[in-house]
Amino acid sequence: MFDNLTERLQNSFKVLQGKNKLSESNIKEAIREVRRALLEADVALEVIKVFLDQVQTKVLGLKVGQGLTPAQAFIKLVEIELTEIIGGEAESLDLKIQPPAVIMLAGLQGAGKTTSIAKLALYLKQRENKKVLVVSADVYRPAAIEQLEVLAKQVEVNFFPSTIDDKPSDIVASAKKYAQKQFFDVLLVDTAGRLHIDEQMMDEIKVLQKKVNPIETLFVVDSMTGQDAAHTAKAFADALPLTGVILTKIDGDARGGAALSVRHITGKPIKFLGVGEKIDTLEPFHPERVVSRLLG
Ligand code: GDP
Repeated sequence: MFDNLTERLQNSFKVLQGKNKLSESNIKEAIREVRRALLEADVALEVIKVFLDQVQTKVLGLKVGQGLTPAQAFIKLVEIELTEIIGGEAESLDLKIQPPAVIMLAGLQGAGKTTSIAKLALYLKQRENKKVLVVSADVYRPAAIEQLEVLAKQVEVNFFPSTIDDKPSDIVASAKKYAQKQFFDVLLVDTAGRLHIDEQMMDEIKVLQKKVNPIETLFVVDSMTGQDAAHTAKAFADALPLTGVILTKIDGDARGGAALSVRHITGKPIKFLGVGEKIDTLEPFHPERVVSRLLG
């Protein structure tokens, strides 16, 4: 994960190695190198700017000599500011309501929505001891409904059947009623994905979201698309009251531009990372852990 960026950042810090103080010129050089590393990682420009402005302001007040070399003090500052820009504190799911807590997932086709529903179902069942029901409101692709059924079997959670002849809002209303009667804690709703964000898709999902009124609406996005992931998520966040983002395919992402950009661009927290094709590869997002891994 983020191997290229890790290597590039480590190289940028070399500028300060062996220096016994932070000077205007070596700070400038280090910041220039970090900037280059972030650009190569496809981090959004405005994120790089805000981040480096913070570093630049705070680097002047750094106290070197209390057990930290100038290079270490600078790295520590980068660590703190990166953690801040990708989310600060970890934010978990809000499930504190009268059950069933409805969680709706949205995203473009291929982002990893259906897989993430199954991963989340397993996570909630195993880690949070929840009784989970899943349903597909993707009435455009019969294969999508079948895919969810297969995955639900695999993770051993209940599947609420639907067909392409049903209306998405009716499907979810029936599933919710069933979940209430059968005392499910959580209802996970898969929605239709499209190849692009278009008006029809947005209108449809807005209507569904209003009707279902989920406690969590999570946008699922492929981290391999770099800063585009953040901009796509922003378009959704502008149209829907999103409560968070699931960033998938982190395992194949050497650059990290999406992970570093999403929070700042959307204002919404990343809540989970998809880190593999297998069904048990969903990790709650902890900004400080991700940054410490990133810095190696
Ligand atoms: P959907 O169209 O958004 O529902 O996408 P799918 O759930 O069908 O996923 C599309 C592809 O991405 C599938 O081949 C998944 O196995 C793969 N995928 C999903 N999440 C991850 C992940 O975190 N890592 C990797 N490597 N592959 C993933």
